[in-house]
Amino acid sequence: MNTPVERPLPLSTSCCIVGGGPAGLMLGYLLALKGVEVVVLEKHSDFLRDFRGDTIHPSTLEIIWQLGFLDEFLALPHQRAEKLYGEIAGREATLADFSRLPTRCKFIAFMPQWDFLNFISDKARQLPNFSLHQNVSVNDLLEQNGKVSGVRVSQNGIDRQITAQLVVGCDGRHSIVREKAGLEVMNFGAPRDVLWLKITKSADDPEWSTGHRGPKKGFIMIDRGDYWQCGYSITKGSLDELKLRGLAALIADVAEISPFDAARLQQDLTDWDKVKLLQIRIDRLKQWSKPELLCIGDAAHAMSPIGGVGVNLAIQDAVATANILAPALLKGNVTLRHLQKVQRRRTFPTWATQSLQVMISKASQKKRTKPPSGVELWVRQRAFIPFLFGRLIGIGFFKENFRK
Ligand SMILES: Cc1cc2nc3c(=O)[nH]c(=O)nc-3n(C[C@H](O)[C@H](O)[C@H](O)COP(=O)(O)OP(=O)(O)OC[C@H]3O[C@@H](n4cnc5c(N)ncnc54)[C@H](O)[C@@H]3O)c2cc1C
Repeated sequence: MNTPVERPLPLSTSCCIVGGGPAGLMLGYLLALKGVEVVVLEKHSDFLRDFRGDTIHPSTLEIIWQLGFLDEFLALPHQRAEKLYGEIAGREATLADFSRLPTRCKFIAFMPQWDFLNFISDKARQLPNFSLHQNVSVNDLLEQNGKVSGVRVSQNGIDRQITAQLVVGCDGRHSIVREKAGLEVMNFGAPRDVLWLKITKSADDPEWSTGHRGPKKGFIMIDRGDYWQCGYSITKGSLDELKLRGLAALIADVAEISPFDAARLQQDLTDWDKVKLLQIRIDRLKQWSKPELLCIGDAAHAMSPIGGVGVNLAIQDAVATANILAPALLKGNVTLRHLQKVQRRRTFPTWATQSLQVMISKASQKKRTKPPSGVELWVRQRAFIPFLFGRLIGIGFFKENFRK
């Protein structure tokens, strides 16, 4: 990794991207590759956050291949899952199989998100028209004659303004950009939250060594090399109640449905800091844009963790946005129609993925009191189902290609 040279904040730029997550950094890099002047503003000083979408799907690996860095990227430490396992109609089954995908990589790469973001930002920083400014928090939008003309930021307690031809909100599910722009959010609810737990691997774990296991009775296990990344599903908003019952009670609950006994769990779960809450949201903006402003990634549509597709969709949004907007940004004539074209292109895959997530989430809520239904048995017996899910999870409903 190169040591980044801190550049002073500019007063103006062509495209100002708020948020240096997967969507913001990938969009910044792709636009800069096409010659657009880009500034990415990130409120944190680094990318070091645990369990933040650590899945790099085949479609994202395909984009990295199109950019010419696949071998270099795959040299970074990661684990591969060629199949995902779970439960259909009460029996363990292969849920997704990536082996027949029409992509270079027929697996999901599990890699800490900070390694992915450092990789992309290192590549982007080599371009003279790209700059990333960390420790810069955007707190408002500048508006002129009904159009967004830039952002107000705070850096080390000092308030500044940056004007831009276009502002892109890539600031995640709690987006300040979408809030300040007054964009309406459609919320599809989510009855569950997830607690992420890190359980050190033991030499006695061979039967799970084939990669991703789960979800099984609300428990997910992802092989992360020297530890298991475990997801434990809880009723939405019940963490405070669980805390009142105490850590020992949580450990007992987890031990009941996981392959780990309480003694093993106690070694890793020594305090509540080791338990990370993912508040599940499924929402989508009605309009992703207004004059001179666009939102993409989680800022436009927060995804459920089902299928682990959040990063994937954010990257696909970034590719579509760069392909559609770069020519207009270079000519300096971005219109609302250009921005709406991005939404039109990305609405179907977002809507279809979210609808599937809502359906799966509702089905998994039903208490199993009766034997499996005919439909469940039919699904369990169909050999094509793992390949279909492999396609939907690995590539999605619609695949974007980067146009150089
Ligand atoms: C705990 C957790 C686990 C997850 N697990 C998975 C998974 O396994 N697989 C998967 O695909 N997805 C997962 N997701 C979702 C996934 O992380 C997101 O879908 C994906 O990161 C979206 O990318 P993004 O760039 O749109 O937004 P984000 O990754 O949220 O990035 C937004 C960026 O904007 C910055 N920002 C926010 N506000 C401001 C501001 N005012 N000024 C400047 N910067 C700002 C943030 O610091 C952040 O870096 C998980 C999410 C969470 C929270």
